[in-house]
Amino acid sequence: MIREVDLDEISDGKRYHANDLVKADCNDCINCNECCTGMGNSIILDPYDIALLSSGLELSFEHLMNGKIELNLVDGLILPNLVMDSEREQCLFLNQQGRCSIHAFRPGICRLFPLGRVYENNSFQYFLQTKECRKTNRTKIKVKKWIGLPNFRDYESFVLHWHDFLLEVQRIIREHAEAAYVKNLNLYLLKLFYQTRYEADSDFFSQFDQRLSMAKDYVGSLSE
Ligand code: SF4
Ligand code: SF4
Repeated sequence: MIREVDLDEISDGKRYHANDLVKADCNDCINCNECCTGMGNSIILDPYDIALLSSGLELSFEHLMNGKIELNLVDGLILPNLVMDSEREQCLFLNQQGRCSIHAFRPGICRLFPLGRVYENNSFQYFLQTKECRKTNRTKIKVKKWIGLPNFRDYESFVLHWHDFLLEVQRIIREHAEAAYVKNLNLYLLKLFYQTRYEADSDFFSQFDQRLSMAKDYVGSLSE
């Protein structure tokens, strides 16, 4: 999602890289689950999130669509997000003890919080949101340890390429108002990146790169 915010207002004014220490560790979020409450449809899922969720819950995309995720329009693109429990306005994966029941394979947005990313010059850096997490006694931790995913370089490369690709597709959608064009593009991308299962015993990032290359060819052919 493209969001224009004044970083100086919402952060500590610093930028961080994967190996930098940042005061983000809220020590297991003890007695707090504010981030898992009232999030609406804002926990948008990227292809890696869906691959992890599918494998962790042993559910296909279609089965996840049966109450755990839903599709919404984000700046013209159809993307999946986590479903909230409408009565409690809490994430469905929050258990009775107020803990995340899918902690090991929770989405990237959940891993990142209270950090954010700022994209500039074909790269990105992290920033610390200072007004979001209610814990005041957070301790320092390395950014990559906080996010806690293996193959971190590959993950960061995936994040950047996915972000850039979405921006490009959103630009194309803005410039092509024809409903049929936008619909076909959305259906193709949904199928390619989300509905078609990733092989669990083979490297996700290589599979993603192959699909990204196919998608760029497809998008290019539509624009001709
Ligand atoms: S997936 Fe886990 S961390 Fe993310 S909102 Fe749901 S309960 Fe919270
Ligand atoms: S507000 Fe902070 S302590 Fe509370 S759940 Fe979110 S990250 Fe954890």
